[in-house]
Amino acid sequence: MTIERTPNGAHTGIYLDHAATTPLDEDALQAMMPYFSGVYGNADSPHRFGREAAAALDRAREIFATAFHARDGEIFFTASGTESDNLAVFGAARAMAKKGRKKLIVFSAEHYAVLEPTRLLAKNEGVEAVYIPADKRGRADLEFLKREADCTTALVALMTANNELGTIQPVAKAAKIAHEAGALFFTDAVQAAPYMPLNPQEIGADLLSVSAHKFYGPKGVGVLYVKSGTPIERVIAGGEQERGLRGGTVNVAGIVGAAAAYEKALRDMQKNNAAVAAVKEAFLKEIALFPLAEVNGGNGAEFIPSVLNLRVKGVEHGGLLRLMDLHAIAASAGAACSGGDVRLSHVLLAAGYTEEEARESFRLSFGKDNTAEEAIFAARTIAALAKGLAEKTT
Ligand code: PLP
Repeated sequence: MTIERTPNGAHTGIYLDHAATTPLDEDALQAMMPYFSGVYGNADSPHRFGREAAAALDRAREIFATAFHARDGEIFFTASGTESDNLAVFGAARAMAKKGRKKLIVFSAEHYAVLEPTRLLAKNEGVEAVYIPADKRGRADLEFLKREADCTTALVALMTANNELGTIQPVAKAAKIAHEAGALFFTDAVQAAPYMPLNPQEIGADLLSVSAHKFYGPKGVGVLYVKSGTPIERVIAGGEQERGLRGGTVNVAGIVGAAAAYEKALRDMQKNNAAVAAVKEAFLKEIALFPLAEVNGGNGAEFIPSVLNLRVKGVEHGGLLRLMDLHAIAASAGAACSGGDVRLSHVLLAAGYTEEEARESFRLSFGKDNTAEEAIFAARTIAALAKGLAEKTT
C-alpha cells in the first residue's frame, strides 16, 4: 500500500479531528525556530544566554496576559492542557481544603483531565465530589449547581465549551453561583480557545486553562490563568520556575510558538469561525440526505463551530471509523485509550444518551483549512460506508 503525503509529510486525507489536535501554524513554527538551537539558554540562567530566553518567555507571557485582559503575573505555563487542569483542580482543592472547604462541584461532562484529579481527590484526600448533570444538548444544569454550592464548597469547575458535543456553557452564571458560595471557579477553555475571546475577569474565572495544540500551536504547551490572590498549591515541585507554582525548565520554543499561534488565532477569529461554520454547514446539508444520520447535541450559536457529534442509527462507530480511516477520512469517538481502543463517550452518557446511542455516535471536528468540497465528499463517503454497514447488520 502506498501512503501518499504532502510535501511537508502530512497525509493527504481529509482531517476532521481538529478537536483532538490541529496542525502547527506555519508562522508559529517560524517564530519557534530560533529557540530550538540558536537561542538555547535556560530562561532561569543568570547570564546573557539565559536572559535572551527569559526575554522571549516574558514576551509570550505578555501576549497571553494582554489577550486574557490579565496581568503578566497571572499567566503560568505548563506542558499541556491536562497539566493546567491538574494544577487548577489539585492545586486549588488542596489549598481550599486547608481553609476547611472540601467539596468539589464538577460538571459531569468535563474532560478526564478535570474528572480524574477530582476522582483521585475524592478517593485519597477526603474531598467530596459532586457532579453537575448535563441535558441532551450538553448544557450544565445550573439549578443543580445552585442547590449544591454552599459554605463547604472549595471549587466549581465548568468547561467553557465541551470537546465532544461542542456545547458552550453558561460559565459566567456558574462563576457567580460559585462566588456567592465563597468558592473558586475554574473553567477549562481548551476547546473554546480557538473560537471565542477569553476574558477571565468578565467570566468571573479564578482559574482558566488553554492548550496550544488546539489553536494551531505546538503540542506540549498549556497555559493556566490564575487570578492574583487565588489560593493554589503547586503540583510539580522542583525549582522556583513559574514563580514557584510549577517546577521544571520551561519550554521556551514551545511557549513562543503558543503565543504566536494564539495571537494569530485571535486576530483571525472571525474569519476562521466563518470558514469553519461554512464547512460544517456544507457537511450538514449533505448528510441531511442520509436518513440514518442524526446530530447529537445541536448546532448553532450555543455550540463552537468546529464540533459536530453525529449518530448513525444501527451502525457502531468502531467499524465505521475504521472504514472511514481506510478511505482517509479522520474522525474520532469518545476519548482514545492508549491501545487505540475507544471507550464509550462519558460525555454522551452524562448528557443522557443511552449506551447504544453512544456506541452509534462519533465526533467530527472541522478546521479552518477544510474546504466545503472536502466536507461534502466526507458526508457522501460516510453515508455510503454507513449504509453498507447498516445493510450488513440487518
Ligand atoms: N480539556 C479539554 C476540554 C480537551 O479537549 C483536552 C484535549 O483534548 C484537554 C483538556 C487536554 O489537553 P492536552 O491534550 O493539551 O493535554
